[in-house]
Amino acid sequence: MSENYIKFLGTAGARFVVSKQIRSSGGVFIHIDGKNIILDPGPGTLVRMAKSRPKIDVQEIDAIILTHLHIDHSNDVNIIIDGITLGGIKKKGILFAPEDALFGENRVVLTYIKSFLSEIHVLKAENTYHIGEITFSTSIRHRHQVETYGIKFKLKGKILSFMVDTRFFPELLNSYRDSSTIVMNVVRYNSVKGTSIQHLSVEDVVTVANQIRPERIVLTHFGSTMLKVNPYKVAQELSKNTGIEIIAASDGMKLEI
Ligand SMILES: [Zn+2]
Repeated sequence: MSENYIKFLGTAGARFVVSKQIRSSGGVFIHIDGKNIILDPGPGTLVRMAKSRPKIDVQEIDAIILTHLHIDHSNDVNIIIDGITLGGIKKKGILFAPEDALFGENRVVLTYIKSFLSEIHVLKAENTYHIGEITFSTSIRHRHQVETYGIKFKLKGKILSFMVDTRFFPELLNSYRDSSTIVMNVVRYNSVKGTSIQHLSVEDVVTVANQIRPERIVLTHFGSTMLKVNPYKVAQELSKNTGIEIIAASDGMKLEI
């Protein structure tokens, strides 16, 4: 059986870092039990797949998961579906996305492209989904501007979680309590209390590390305040302070799971 791994096609978060491409904004490539999944295909995902070593063939993608419709998570969804299906010639591929991303006023998947897919599933809170033999579930609904869910893959007794965009709220802890590895979208270095900012910060990583105590936390989706202080150094310091293995993702980084 082939190894299971994830590969970060991009680690950019927030407007400035994405628009200037200071880091790439491709999503995460997930390879589990022979299946190929793209999580949150932000701008440049298709290009990063083609330039990846080894190359990630778009026609080999089995499923796409959109955690929410924001453009830094969904920009390349249409072109990837087009690639998977050879412009609709081969009806295949499975798409998972929240209802507003599929049918809302700000829907991000084009109607003609939707018809290329073999399956479309609407993500709801705390539900279970399948991609062939693979099982994943959703977290509780995140607190973010649009309908957003975290994703938790079940792998032989271990759980690989993606705690994507959200502001921190205590109920997150229970929703991710069973995770072995948590990939966290840490856009901000400082938390700014009482503001409308709906992203995680370094302080929230400490809370998650201490309260959940997973085997490993991976930081990604960096905004400019994180890049300024160097995510690698932040992760090192956090590991030392919490006793949990904390890693900062970089563009192209492969992580065995
Ligand atoms: Zn977002």
